Amino acid sequence: MREFLRTEIADTVEYFDKAEFFPEENIRKFAQHGYMGIPIPLKYEGAELGEFGYGLAVQEIGKVCSSHGTIIGAHTGLCAVPIWLFGTDEQKKQYLNDLASGRKLGAFGLTEPGAGSDAANIKTTATKSGDHYLLNGTKQFITNGDRAETFVVFAANDLTLGAFGGISAFIVDRSFGGVSTAKVEKKMGIRASTTAQVVFQDCPVPNDNVLGSFGAGFLIALTALDGGRASLSAGAVGGCESALEIMIDWVKEHPRVRSLQSVQWMIADTAIDAHASRLVSYESLEEVGVYFDRLYRGEKIPRVEREAISRHTAMAKAFCSEAASRSLERAIQVLGAEGFIEGNGLERGYRDSVIAEIYEGTNDIQRLVIARDLISSGAGS
Ligand SMILES: Cc1cc2nc3c(=O)[nH]c(=O)nc-3n(C[C@H](O)[C@H](O)[C@H](O)COP(=O)(O)OP(=O)(O)OC[C@H]3O[C@@H](n4cnc5c(N)ncnc54)[C@H](O)[C@@H]3O)c2cc1C
Repeated sequence: MREFLRTEIADTVEYFDKAEFFPEENIRKFAQHGYMGIPIPLKYEGAELGEFGYGLAVQEIGKVCSSHGTIIGAHTGLCAVPIWLFGTDEQKKQYLNDLASGRKLGAFGLTEPGAGSDAANIKTTATKSGDHYLLNGTKQFITNGDRAETFVVFAANDLTLGAFGGISAFIVDRSFGGVSTAKVEKKMGIRASTTAQVVFQDCPVPNDNVLGSFGAGFLIALTALDGGRASLSAGAVGGCESALEIMIDWVKEHPRVRSLQSVQWMIADTAIDAHASRLVSYESLEEVGVYFDRLYRGEKIPRVEREAISRHTAMAKAFCSEAASRSLERAIQVLGAEGFIEGNGLERGYRDSVIAEIYEGTNDIQRLVIARDLISSGAGS
């Protein structure tokens, strides 16, 4: 992955960011190299490298370009993985191979105009109509939403049942009809990835496309987000490492700056952030990998175990994303005016780093997850 990024991708990323273009040709190359389904088993045309292998790949991508990391994260971690873990054999045959091989692009539709952090409050509805459900509602800020052919979409089947029981997950193929892009957002960062508002209007989804048990959608979303947060933390490790590399390369060439203790502290603090992030991220990837293997084998995981895993992925996501932002900010300070100028990756990297503190649950929400589980379970850390 490192070699592939260096030789085929790195020189293009500045262009796609500034042009705010989706890097279609690059994503095709990721697919050709087998990088669109890294944790998915070989039998579904993935690379079968587990969550840990996937995380290491995302870490490398995070060093080079978070837009690419975001596109691949939504496609693989949030769309292909839940189909792998919860789909029927038929659903996997029909959708997973195309996603894992990169023949088709995937997206994850949970957030709505009135339901971000409060995801249980979604208003998109699924109404039974013979042999299919009709989906109606608007999904907001959906990565790949304007381009994806396959969506995992969450809709309320019965608002009176609450989140656990009242929300179902559906595999939606754009060809079903009733799916349109209302808006593609302009953003401060990850500008080469697209973030779209997607409207479902009487979108007919066959009964066979309910993902997992009917009513189990919220749990499916939380599970996908556990994997998403662990891999997102690995992307942020890449952000810390790129900041550190840029600082060290710079001071080697600038002896006056190198001799300053304030600069040395910034390098040391960034090295601490990079190292600590690697440890917390790798631990959570490892744990999620085991968790997903157990789910794939059909094991029922007790709630207290699930919540402990979520606490750890929340810690990894919050810690690593904040570590990446402060590391990139330090690198800008070390380079002085040069750090503020476009072209060395820092200006783009810094803008790109902010989103990791927001998406897949803001870091405030991660802190709520951590504190609530500690208080209710009485666990130590
Ligand atoms: C570039 C981008 C890509 C995205 N991709 C996807 C995607 O592919 N699929 C998808 O479904 N969603 C996606 N999202 C949505 C994203 O996950 C949400 O924006 C995020 O969860 C936050 O929700 P919100 O924006 O509604 O913020 P809000 O929920 O409105 O939060 C606003 C502020 O209030 C705080 N807050 C809210 N509730 C609480 C609480 N209970 N306690 C303490 N503080 C609280 C938050 O931390 C935040 O500071 C994306 C967003 C962006 C910007």
